[in-house]
Amino acid sequence: MRGYNHPKSGVLLYKVERHGRSVVYATDTPDDLDALYDGGAHGFTYSREGHANARTLAQMIDGMEGAADGVVVSSGMAAISVALMATCKAGDHVLGGNQLYGRSLRMMNEELPRLGMETSVFDPTDIAAARAAVRPNTRAILIEVVSNPTLRVADMPAIYALAREIGAVVIVDNTFTTPYAYRPFDHGADIVVHSVTKLMAGHSDAMLGYVAARDPGVAERLNIVATTWGFTASPFDCWMAERGLLSFDLRFERAQANARALAEALNALPGVARTVFPGLPNHPDHNRARDILGDAMGNMVSFEIPGGRAAANALTRAAQPIAFAPTLGDINTTLSHAASSSHRALSAEARGQLGMSEGFFRVSVGVEPAQDIIAAFTRGVEAAARADQA
Ligand SMILES: *Cc1c(COP(=O)(O)O)cnc(C)c1O
Repeated sequence: MRGYNHPKSGVLLYKVERHGRSVVYATDTPDDLDALYDGGAHGFTYSREGHANARTLAQMIDGMEGAADGVVVSSGMAAISVALMATCKAGDHVLGGNQLYGRSLRMMNEELPRLGMETSVFDPTDIAAARAAVRPNTRAILIEVVSNPTLRVADMPAIYALAREIGAVVIVDNTFTTPYAYRPFDHGADIVVHSVTKLMAGHSDAMLGYVAARDPGVAERLNIVATTWGFTASPFDCWMAERGLLSFDLRFERAQANARALAEALNALPGVARTVFPGLPNHPDHNRARDILGDAMGNMVSFEIPGGRAAANALTRAAQPIAFAPTLGDINTTLSHAASSSHRALSAEARGQLGMSEGFFRVSVGVEPAQDIIAAFTRGVEAAARADQA
């Protein structure tokens, strides 16, 4: 017996029979190795080049995104790196949303320029701003559908149209929206990236990314870049994420319903100055969110309380057992604070311009009973108000 078929995907999984280690795969003859390398045969040679767990996971996410030949890599940032390196080179200009994930912004501001690329950012809710930022050498637009942590909704149809007009590729970071809410390839995206670490794997125990391209030639480039630069995913993390993904729909549905309930409760709470949830009619992009996301408004809720750091400290303490942790997409609710984590590198004024005061929090809502989540935040907001008055 040389191998067996994976029961779900049907992929032939080889066991290493001789000299077997987790990263190397034995074959019988040089002819067999040729067959693997030249693509005719299923199987693996050396795990940086690909392994069964990554392939199985990639095929599951391909199915969710309506993609083919997606690549699973070691983190969401690895996926973004692969997407940019596979499509752009020195001399190209990359446009990005001005509220991208913090590390993506850092890549735009520091790493890409170091490699000879030009970059600029624009407000993705304002297509005139995008158009004004276009240069003759604009090659790629990196965009998140829902921004973090202010939850603004990008004008996706206009961005796809602009990209087609100027011959640029659109790279959509679908981490927040997930294929449950939005499938970028159905609407005009060229490349989709994910931090699988977040909602897809869902348990904060695996770090992975995913990248796929609509064009088969670009898809092949993604695989070459990922392998050559060494962005390979850990097999163990892939296996953990595969388990997590099996319950993704259930988790996402429950988390979304909880997010709506929490947003409505915070919106009615006297100690909350502002609640941000695309599903609330008072959200500045509510109509666009309905057009783009339908009823799938996601599991993220942001809110702002009056007061400074003392009020913020009181809130996180009193909201326990809600974890104060700078991540999102865990099965449990987590709370994060832009001023001390994701946006700590910015000055207070720069944060203020983005709408993130000391009292601005983002909640990644999990699957706990809704009344427990609401009770924890009510305690937190009330404690913050007392601290602010003290
Ligand atoms: C977390 C995150 C990333 C980076 O993913 P890692 O797996 O942490 O490298 C990229 N984009 C978004 C929107 C994220 O939330």
